[in-house]
Amino acid sequence: RRAAELREQAAEPVDFQGRSVLVAANVGSVADARAAVANGADGVGLLRTELLVLDRETYPDEDTQRDDLTEILDVLDARPVVVRVLDAGGDKPVRTLDVTPEHNGFLGIRGLRYLLAHPELLHTQLRAIARASVGHRVSVMAPMVTTVEEARAFREAVEAAVASLVSDGVEHAAPEAVGIMVEVPAAALTVEEFADVVDFVSVGSNDLAAYLSAAERTEPDLAPLLDPDSSAMKRVLDALTEQAASRGIPVAVCGEMAGDPGLAMSLLARGVWEVSMAPARIPAVKDAIRRYGR
Ligand code: PEP
Ligand code: MG
Repeated sequence: RRAAELREQAAEPVDFQGRSVLVAANVGSVADARAAVANGADGVGLLRTELLVLDRETYPDEDTQRDDLTEILDVLDARPVVVRVLDAGGDKPVRTLDVTPEHNGFLGIRGLRYLLAHPELLHTQLRAIARASVGHRVSVMAPMVTTVEEARAFREAVEAAVASLVSDGVEHAAPEAVGIMVEVPAAALTVEEFADVVDFVSVGSNDLAAYLSAAERTEPDLAPLLDPDSSAMKRVLDALTEQAASRGIPVAVCGEMAGDPGLAMSLLARGVWEVSMAPARIPAVKDAIRRYGR
């Protein structure tokens, strides 16, 4: 009964210390999108597009990618959605792509590194996203960014994809915002340097904790080293939110820690404007914010 009550309340937006914040969902399928809506998500802070291609026999073409996204965006209706471009590699090998696990392991050619090495793949995906965005509120985000140069290359790729749709006369909507994941310590410690290149950042605390501790997130025996509340993580989160605030960069968090009510509050207290989590975590997090977020 209490769970149903919390879910019902979760449909309402929440304030934290007098400012409105978003409690959003991480999704990777139509079923996840439905769960997000059922659990009162204010939006989607992370749409993991690699989950749409992992199990396919062949890599989907532009039309197929657009159709897959449209199906998800239609469920989410007018809610703001952050679509992350393909995050292949690490714990998510894509077998239809020409990568060997050794080369795109956790420290290898994964995420944006892979896409910048395969510009056609990125171009096609960005076109598919812009085509699916008509009638929706969509932003785009790149995974595994290390340097400002990479972020700039991503923004240029977004602009080029939109320009190609304009010149082809294809119906589309340009992304509302262009952002990056902050999950590599080098990016986390230099967030202010990205100010001219990105509209927002979203902290991937799962990978950030793993890279900070040099501990693979898939190794259960190493779980104690991945504590998002460790002294090292707190210092990095403090530094990155302070840097971001000094340059006016909005910060979201979409790693698992955002789905823990106590940790979500600690993130909001640092000025984070959106916490994004597994859909089922939303009602409890919104309840905590409503109770203790005055
Ligand atoms: C993260 O690394 O925290 C994150 C949200 O991305 P993913 O879990 O998909 O790597
Ligand atoms: Mg990640």
